Amino acid sequence: MKCTEFLQELTDYLDGKISENLKIELDEHLHWCKECHVVMNTTKKTIEIYRDNELYELPESLRTRLHDAIMTKCRGSKSGKKSTT
Ligand SMILES: [Zn+2]
Repeated sequence: MKCTEFLQELTDYLDGKISENLKIELDEHLHWCKECHVVMNTTKKTIEIYRDNELYELPESLRTRLHDAIMTKCRGSKSGKKSTT
């Protein structure tokens, strides 16, 4: 599985909406891909914040922004620009 494939499934993975087989593949990816592991943790925390606020479903805009940020990160643009948001 490639990082892009992993990231496409990430939010569903965290929502528990994916099949058992796919979950296993994603778990395997996380074992060797540190980058996606970091992204997964960040995304998970963001979702948990929303969950705490009883907004379980991520707003579409945030979901898109998150996805864009993940994809940018995944492309490995190491221009020295650090986003802490
Ligand atoms: Zn990866």
